[in-house]
Amino acid sequence: AYKKEGDIEWVRGVCRFCGTGCKVWLGLKNGKPAIIRGEKDSQINFGFLCMKGMLFYKLFRHPDRLTQPLYRKSKKEPFKPISWEKAFDIMADEMIKAIKKGEWGPMGWTGIAYYGSGQALTEETYLFQKLFRCIGTNHVEGNPRLCMASAVGGYLTSYGTDEPAGGYADFDKAQTVFIIGSNTAECHPILYRRIMKNKLANPNGYMVINVDPRVSPTSKIADIHMQFKPGTDLALLNALAHVIIKEGLYDKEFVSKYCSFHIYTKGRDKNPLIGHAVSFEEYKRFLEKYTPEYAAEICGGNITPEMIRKVARRFATTRTVSIWTMGLNQRTRGVWVNNLVTNLHLLTGNVCKDGADALSLTGQPNACGGVREGGGLCHILPGHRVVKNAKHRHQLEKIWGVPKGTIPPKPGYHTVKMFSAISYTEEDKRRFPGLKPIHFIWIEETSPLQSLPNMRRFREGFARDDVFVVVTDIFPTRTTEFANLILPAAFHFEKTGVYGCTERRSQLTPKAVKAPGQAMPELWQIVNFAQVLAKKLKRERDPKLRKRASIVYQCVAPFIEAAKKDPWWTLSKEVWNEYAGKVTKGQDSDLSGATYEVLLERPDGVQWPAPTVEIARKGGTLRRFVVGKDPIATKIAQTHPEYRDWKCIDYGHLHKDHKFWVWLRPYKGPAEPPDAEYPFVLSTGRVIDHWHTASMTGRIPELAGDYPYAWVEINPKDAQRLGINPGDLVLVETRRGKNILPARISTDEGPMEGMVFVYWYDQEKSRMINFCTLDAFDPGSKQPEFKICACRIKKYAPA
Ligand code: SF4
Repeated sequence: AYKKEGDIEWVRGVCRFCGTGCKVWLGLKNGKPAIIRGEKDSQINFGFLCMKGMLFYKLFRHPDRLTQPLYRKSKKEPFKPISWEKAFDIMADEMIKAIKKGEWGPMGWTGIAYYGSGQALTEETYLFQKLFRCIGTNHVEGNPRLCMASAVGGYLTSYGTDEPAGGYADFDKAQTVFIIGSNTAECHPILYRRIMKNKLANPNGYMVINVDPRVSPTSKIADIHMQFKPGTDLALLNALAHVIIKEGLYDKEFVSKYCSFHIYTKGRDKNPLIGHAVSFEEYKRFLEKYTPEYAAEICGGNITPEMIRKVARRFATTRTVSIWTMGLNQRTRGVWVNNLVTNLHLLTGNVCKDGADALSLTGQPNACGGVREGGGLCHILPGHRVVKNAKHRHQLEKIWGVPKGTIPPKPGYHTVKMFSAISYTEEDKRRFPGLKPIHFIWIEETSPLQSLPNMRRFREGFARDDVFVVVTDIFPTRTTEFANLILPAAFHFEKTGVYGCTERRSQLTPKAVKAPGQAMPELWQIVNFAQVLAKKLKRERDPKLRKRASIVYQCVAPFIEAAKKDPWWTLSKEVWNEYAGKVTKGQDSDLSGATYEVLLERPDGVQWPAPTVEIARKGGTLRRFVVGKDPIATKIAQTHPEYRDWKCIDYGHLHKDHKFWVWLRPYKGPAEPPDAEYPFVLSTGRVIDHWHTASMTGRIPELAGDYPYAWVEINPKDAQRLGINPGDLVLVETRRGKNILPARISTDEGPMEGMVFVYWYDQEKSRMINFCTLDAFDPGSKQPEFKICACRIKKYAPA
């Protein structure tokens, strides 16, 4: 991971941005970051990088970096610099005050919360959630709730366990790539490059199908672009299944032996994740009404019955990889639509073999590794365990050496509920009966006050002085504006740790650069804060609080020495050893063989399960569900020669019948469809050069220069009807808020008629589109419906 060429010292790590996980070399000249290039031996990016990846070295010495702790008692006052000791002292006092203002209940203390990020290192998310659970709360949540919770729900309900079975290598063996709800060309450009390379190498045999209501750079080079009305994809996907069944194109043996059929009926079924089983005949009857003609009528756009038939036949008769992102996940029916994509793979046997996979892409570099696997959401625990399962809680308590019962038994608040417990308006209380207010929150490396939907009331709540807000980050953001305490964090390559990307792959980035000023790694912040808190808790009168003092101390005790001596490397390594070596051991996300030494050796990390050093040294498990462990996979491998390449199955198969589940999910429209008052659909997304809230990419001149502000994309026919010309300012209004944005009208790219599209990276308040978006969420995944709400537009005429 280290080499020298001329006057450049090179250090190998991972890109800081999207969930692709490109491997990079950071070049240092005279010890200063000077250049980034891709790792040629990486099986992810093969030496290539997009502009974001090539330019993030410009952030290390940026003048806006946060370099010392800043504090203000009231949010009306200016910030003043303080020492780390003073910062931890104030934080501990404020946290104890908040605990006392709240209550103790089945989810633990109600008054405090942690809100993390898919950008934090795995070690950081793991230790943050451990600390908060040891303090005694399950109010542990993170921004992946906004981007991939529906994919988690989809995998759990379809496979019985989270995360995909295959990986990027499947693009090279596939014959068809089915891209739905993803602008891969802009949001995952290195993966799109790989898909295009395959297509160019085999123009007649490799087909790309893009399913999206918008003409995007992805759809423009697809063989088939299925353009449909936003929110109608449930009908479309059921119609594809209808054709596959009707024309006898399904894999009869696979379906009869390895699939079962399930439906959730409200009122009848207690658990929506399990529902109840039905017969294949019943599934066929359910699909009867989803004829191509019926679906084409619902979907509109360019969808025809013949197109549906053609795509269904192609899907069923070729090895197919499906990929998707926010277009499916950010929906009130996000889990359902995830299930329906996976259904197509199960019906056609397009799973767990070379060139066949249902692969949900992730937007952040460590949403999978850190948050999904590290326990960074309110209902999950590290190692794919869940809060509600007493056995899982006790396993962790034993590993941590804390008393049985330390982890509260009920999940905490999911994102929208957590932030509603801070805004705590009358409407919030009506929406969430029994909601208890939160008075202290520690936010790490994310900017919820730009990225949350319908955020006006959240921002008003954060502005009040009855909630103490701590933000750990590298730059000022729209969220640090609402902080009481800002803690400067060490940036990527200024500390050591692991990111886990889309395809179950963990990669290490070692420290290479000195952090500026007093910026420190989060692990150091956690360990030092916990010791101050433990001392203060010990002096409390309430025995419930006093009891937590020794638990909090025990939580960080194994790491105190390393935090003192070497917070840049040894501390991270020791936390990783606990997490990977003890917590994931024996779980389906087993990384116990992936030691720091192995991760440093490998040019592209390790895919779990990797239960031994030997397996990890070979890169781990390309395809999940290891034969020999799982009865189904073993049986399949023994009895079906064509499946002998399965390296699959099951450390954590949760489905009791040991089968993959095909779900019956009827078509249901979005939560807020357009109407006479708000006749357009508003959808949001990203551009290639900016990443999320642009707190980083907005500070790189080459990227900011290309996209200095957000705009609203309007279909030319709508623009003509409303008298809007390119560049005109347009008032975009929803039931929740308004924005004023310049118009982009293109005959080449853009949304279909009746739809507008806005980017969410812009930090200028009049263009921050999340004042307008909708915070209705999927009942299973709790992920909000950013992708669809009703809006109206008109040319803006200033008064
Ligand atoms: Fe980084 Fe993603 Fe670009 Fe790769 S595709 S260089 S991971 S931003």
